[in-house]
Amino acid sequence: MRRSNKAITVPENVTRFKAKIIGRKGPVFRVENRENPNPDQPFVINCIARGHTKKAVVGDYVEYILENSDWAEGLIIHLEPRKNELVRVDPVGKKPQVLAANLDRLWVVCAAYPLFKNGLIDRYLVAAHQQNISAGIIFNKIDLIRTTEIRDFVQDSLKHYPKAGYPVYWASAHREMGLDLLKEELKGKTSVFVGHSGVGKTSLMNALIPGLDEDVQEVSEATGRGKHTTTSSTLYHLPSGGDVIDSPGIRGFGLWGVQAGDLKNHFVEFLPLQSACKFQNCLHLSEPGCAVKEAVRLEKIAKLRYDAYTKIHGSLLDEEG
Ligand code: GDP
Ligand code: ZN
Repeated sequence: MRRSNKAITVPENVTRFKAKIIGRKGPVFRVENRENPNPDQPFVINCIARGHTKKAVVGDYVEYILENSDWAEGLIIHLEPRKNELVRVDPVGKKPQVLAANLDRLWVVCAAYPLFKNGLIDRYLVAAHQQNISAGIIFNKIDLIRTTEIRDFVQDSLKHYPKAGYPVYWASAHREMGLDLLKEELKGKTSVFVGHSGVGKTSLMNALIPGLDEDVQEVSEATGRGKHTTTSSTLYHLPSGGDVIDSPGIRGFGLWGVQAGDLKNHFVEFLPLQSACKFQNCLHLSEPGCAVKEAVRLEKIAKLRYDAYTKIHGSLLDEEG
């Protein structure tokens, strides 16, 4: 029997508690009670879910009742509608996988080791824009930039983002550099850290939360990449203010719910030029009189961004068949 979206019936005399999902391990959700009178001591219990509430992810607002089971003390009985969600395509099953919900900000964490790819950053920025989540970039491990060649390469590859409205923060989790500015940005918001595994998301979290001491992964000497990845998201409260969700380190980020024809609307610096293109429905690909292509030629729009656009457009078209 399918009972996915059916409400779970609970007798009236049973107390329901409002809560937020802050973590998950297998079938067990870590759930933080939001009716706790002392916000400095959040009250967290383990809950299991049934039916449609199994779809809950970190950042979701839920209701639970107390009910003991083998693994947990509570049962999630209601899932609030989401303001937004970060979704990717699970590369194995080709199904959507929601990484986190109800986000104010997305930060793409990247580094020179493992070397970032503009295309991955741009995919995340598209996913954020599509869900109305403001976004920025944190370049971590600046202590490893030891030659002018690497410094120039990194700066050249990232300099266009602030112009397009995506701030770039420079940090070193190891040396605790750049963290004060970042803490200011994170205050009062729910942010998510995304990015390739091994870029230092967990290390940043440890640096932002003294005493947290989450396990940092070793990086394989052969590939410079992380050997294993965190498999689920976790929400942390920062002592300096704000919540940050550490999302699983992943190797690729396949977009979900973005049509090839709509992709241009998620490259924010293209938007003001659309009306100057000869054709109103210009996709900025091979059409004549394209104002976006002209702006790329005049270096008003970064070629790196335009190239990422055409590449992602091509991959979305392939998937659409
Ligand atoms: P995650 O997969 O993104 O969570 O990355 P981790 O936090 O597990 O870090 C991966 C590797 O990068 C570990 O060996 C860290 O010690 C190292 N690392 C993280 N931040 C820095 C940094 O600021 N500087 C340097 N040199 N190494 C770092
Ligand atoms: Zn155009």
